[in-house]
Amino acid sequence: MSNMLFDALMDQHAGSVRDCLIPGDGPRISYDEIYRLSGRLANLLLAEGVSPGDRVAVQVEKSPQALALYLAAIRAGAVFLPLNTAYTPAEIAYFVEDAQPALVVCDPAREARRTEFRPQGKLLTLGADGNGSLMDAAAAYRDDHAPVARSGSDLAAILYTSGTTGRSKGAMLSHDNLLSNARTLVDAWRFSADDVLLHALPIFHTHGLFVASNVLMLAGGAMIWLPKFDAAQVIGLLPQASSMMGVPTFYTRLLDRDDFTRDLVSGMRLFTSGSAPLLAETHREFEARTGHRILERYGMTETNMNTSNPYEGERRAGTVGFPLPGVELRIMGEEGAELPQGEIGMIEVRGSNVFQGYWRMPEKTAEELGADGWFKTGDLGLIDAQGYVSIVGRGKDLIISGGFNIYPKEVELLIDEMPGVLESAVIGVPHPDFGEGVVAVVARGRDVEPDPQAIIGGLADRLAKFKQPKKVIVVDELPRNAMGKVQKAELRARHEGLFA
Ligand code: ATP
Ligand code: MG
Repeated sequence: MSNMLFDALMDQHAGSVRDCLIPGDGPRISYDEIYRLSGRLANLLLAEGVSPGDRVAVQVEKSPQALALYLAAIRAGAVFLPLNTAYTPAEIAYFVEDAQPALVVCDPAREARRTEFRPQGKLLTLGADGNGSLMDAAAAYRDDHAPVARSGSDLAAILYTSGTTGRSKGAMLSHDNLLSNARTLVDAWRFSADDVLLHALPIFHTHGLFVASNVLMLAGGAMIWLPKFDAAQVIGLLPQASSMMGVPTFYTRLLDRDDFTRDLVSGMRLFTSGSAPLLAETHREFEARTGHRILERYGMTETNMNTSNPYEGERRAGTVGFPLPGVELRIMGEEGAELPQGEIGMIEVRGSNVFQGYWRMPEKTAEELGADGWFKTGDLGLIDAQGYVSIVGRGKDLIISGGFNIYPKEVELLIDEMPGVLESAVIGVPHPDFGEGVVAVVARGRDVEPDPQAIIGGLADRLAKFKQPKKVIVVDELPRNAMGKVQKAELRARHEGLFA
């Protein structure tokens, strides 16, 4: 029997001298080197007592060794469980307690704080430049390793959601979930062995690990492997790349720089965006500057990618495109019936990309993932007459004021066009008369200072009274988490007492 995901990603690369990783500093690393390193690490994992199905929890900086460790866990039949590097030891304690990993790998700088996160199993360390006990121990092992048999329904990873709307949940992803989606994306976005992807995303999240890394390994392309997004460094390296995947803030930060020019990206074939909404304005500004239309897509930890704008054909700003091949998508009303085209409702998806449930949360799983395979994404959206899907916001961010529904995005899009406004977040906060009152939090742009009265006045003729913000608050920047997502829950908490 074979190991479904590992075989597809890596078998083809055994002995290949082609580049797999091109670090920002340091020598290139071939596919064969990564293949053999994953074998060495897989042998170490087995020797450390990691059995098939055991979790391997990893909180390390992005490095070539970290990618090999992911592959080693899959190869050894284990369940890879990456953790955000921003989590504190106290937060890690929750994940370790929840997931009960057989092995934890953390940064050497955190080893001293191990008592805070109380690993049950073993603990090894891996630093940003490959230092630490993991690689020291691995040196004693052979680099050939017969992959442990795993079928499509076996778990390959547990990935915790970003925690934007509440406590992070562990999404259980099978070999088939990950491989089917990677195959779909290679085709949809035309990836090949000739591609060089500029990879500046973290690899503890779906976007950087599964969308970017799995797709490139499956296609056999190379990745310029950067520990983080640094605009100056990215500008220096873009001429060597053919493609880049980013979160919206990558694009706004590039556009902020005068040395980000059309010439610089004349050799690129694709820029994609996801994880958070890309402003239509950023899409247009990017095209005006570079001639490239960013391809926006929509996905989530539980499902990998669901929709994408077309590679050929119109990439429509402000939309996330069409359901990917093999993914069904429908818009549901509050009564649980499918809504007609054009109406706003809850997005549900079904397909081989959809996860196996939340780790140790059977009730939550039953609530969101139907026996018929339809998954409630928690996002609100609509499908237009041409079939393009738009995300209107999250169900939890919907504002109900005086009994009326208000979709924050409709208000935000108008405010974002106003003088001095860089971006905005519209939230509902408790209000004694209306239940919730609409509040706009506005981040100031570079030039003129936004004027709250002018913003409210400017909406008067364009929005029904109940949708207009009762208050506009100007700030330097909106709070975002590590994935660039605006944290509306934090904004709501911050302004909770506004109308009290
Ligand atoms: P949690 O589920 O813990 O609250 P989260 O939903 O932010 O956190 P992720 O799985 O990382 O965790 O993010 C998926 C969400 O990101 C989607 O449900 C959607 O709200 C948002 N998202 C992803 N891509 C896009 C996009 N292109 N446009 C708008 N929103 C997007
Ligand atoms: Mg979510």
